Amino acid sequence: MVNIAIVGTGYVGLVTGACFAEVGHRVVCVDNNRDKVKLLQGGGIPIYEPGLEDLVKRNVAEGRLQFTDSIQEGVDQSDVIFIAVPTPPQADGSTDLSFVEKVAREISSVMTSYKIIVDKSTVPVRTGEKVAETIKRYNEHGVDFDVASNPEFLREGCAVADLMNPDRVVVGVSSPRPVTTLKAIYEPFDAPIIVTDISSSELIKHACNSFLALKISYINAIAAICEASGADVDDVAHGMGLDQRIGRAFLDAGIGYGGSCFPKDVSAFIHIADQLGYDFSLLKEVARINRHQVERFLKRIHDTLWIVKDKTIAVLGLAFKPNTDDMRLAPSLEIIRSLLEDGAKIRAYDPKAMDNARAILPDLEYCSDPYAAATGAEALVVCTEWPEFRSLDLDRLRSVMTQPVVLDGRNIFNPQDMTARGFIYYGVGRKPQHER
Ligand code: NAD
Repeated sequence: MVNIAIVGTGYVGLVTGACFAEVGHRVVCVDNNRDKVKLLQGGGIPIYEPGLEDLVKRNVAEGRLQFTDSIQEGVDQSDVIFIAVPTPPQADGSTDLSFVEKVAREISSVMTSYKIIVDKSTVPVRTGEKVAETIKRYNEHGVDFDVASNPEFLREGCAVADLMNPDRVVVGVSSPRPVTTLKAIYEPFDAPIIVTDISSSELIKHACNSFLALKISYINAIAAICEASGADVDDVAHGMGLDQRIGRAFLDAGIGYGGSCFPKDVSAFIHIADQLGYDFSLLKEVARINRHQVERFLKRIHDTLWIVKDKTIAVLGLAFKPNTDDMRLAPSLEIIRSLLEDGAKIRAYDPKAMDNARAILPDLEYCSDPYAAATGAEALVVCTEWPEFRSLDLDRLRSVMTQPVVLDGRNIFNPQDMTARGFIYYGVGRKPQHER
């Protein structure tokens, strides 16, 4: 059992804290957002993530997980302190590291015995050196410490499952001293533990996220060629994916990636590479293709509807991906904003993200289910591939729409089936059936 503090109780900090507690560690989650801490202390859960609520409640009840807004309390009660605060993008694409720096200072000024300080936030290579320098500088009590890097690879929407069953755990260190303790934290998870230097560990995270973004942009570029040539992107992705050197994952054509990680991590990687003297033009193109994907989809909507003004458009799915309520940089935002600007009326439905969406997009009609959203619509646009949308009663859906036009930004419906049921159906990179 290791005594652990996690500073930053968001998607990463809360799920990590709950999973560490689940395997027997004693965890205190710290956050400077008092309302969030109060909510958690009162048994509430601030985010939607499958399985998280049960996990948190059980571990709180069994005394292994607690919440505080006091960093002093967190540091006093722990031997290892994880930093899991935001690392948002700045206007030039570089990473705002002020949250990480502030937490490093705060930890340093209150620690009174040896601590291992682990960066779990996604940071540019060489941030660990800066964190170590900062802790040394503000170390009021002159205590001994180690800094480590331990990037997080969880996916929102299946974060608990990812954390409980990681493909691998990456630990970056500058001396062997913290390795035994860090391995003890992760031993119960039964995954390969890779120990590297801090810079390599930081780089692994950026390299992974950028590679996954690259795969998405690659298949979206193929989708554009499919549309122009009459080929079908599903068949191409299937044929590519069976090649074991490539794999099928992340080859789903659509309106591109969003969320709080891929867009910022790709631009941060481009930026740090630039600072280190390497022009990462490959990744610049990945980001450009991703932006272009939304524009191409909007063009498809306009080409299909001709005039958008005063038309009612149903939008299914608002979150940036299924099984989350996270709206950060969701592609739906740009699509809806553009349609609203052009005078469309939007009726939207999302299983979990509507409360968060309301705060950002107040001018929509939020509906109680997909059929209510589709009622009276002249087109239906799919922005998020929620599993429940795949099993909609399509005849019922068609019967409530004024015009049976479906623009499927996530390729969730079967084109032949849609056409057979009387829809005018467009996917991404798929040949429209009614034009065959
Ligand atoms: P988040 O915004 O959900 O949570 C961050 C939390 O940190 C918030 O609750 C905030 O109140 C708190 N915080 C900010 N400053 C603080 C301070 N000084 N003291 C205490 N608490 C403070 O962010 P997140 O999505 O959990 O991401 C955190 C980091 O993990 C980022 O670097 C991100 O890139 C990385 N990451 C995120 C994911 C993901 O899917 N969300 C996956 C892997 C890695």
